Amino acid sequence: MYCQNCGTQVAEDTLFCPVCGTQVAESAPIDRQNPDPQAPYNYMSPQNQAAESAATTSMVCGIVGFFIAGVVLGIIAIIQSRKAQKLGYVGGKATAGLVLGIIDIIKGGFVTVIVVLFLILAFSKVSTPYWG
Ligand SMILES: [Zn+2]
Repeated sequence: MYCQNCGTQVAEDTLFCPVCGTQVAESAPIDRQNPDPQAPYNYMSPQNQAAESAATTSMVCGIVGFFIAGVVLGIIAIIQSRKAQKLGYVGGKATAGLVLGIIDIIKGGFVTVIVVLFLILAFSKVSTPYWG
């Protein structure tokens, strides 16, 4: 079969494209107990690349979400962070993405509540008759 992202031909039992790290197989079991013994010590497996890229996405979404679309990007940041950790990523980026995602959602949710309250208040001032 071929990688959908970069077109490289990959073996049928391959989970991730060895060139670009894109997942090419759907939800095949990952054998954590038996890492490739032939891989050199500094070799970055496609799984690690996918974990790294998920962690990076998580952190970037977390940072951008602090400024715009906090709730949406915060959720993406948390999902990507969990994905990275599931893939075996251990490092600051996934944690940063998770924490920033939570902050984004709280901050984004807070701003949304303020805006909604403001709109309700503004609307009720216009529509409520004056009784006094
Ligand atoms: Zn590829």
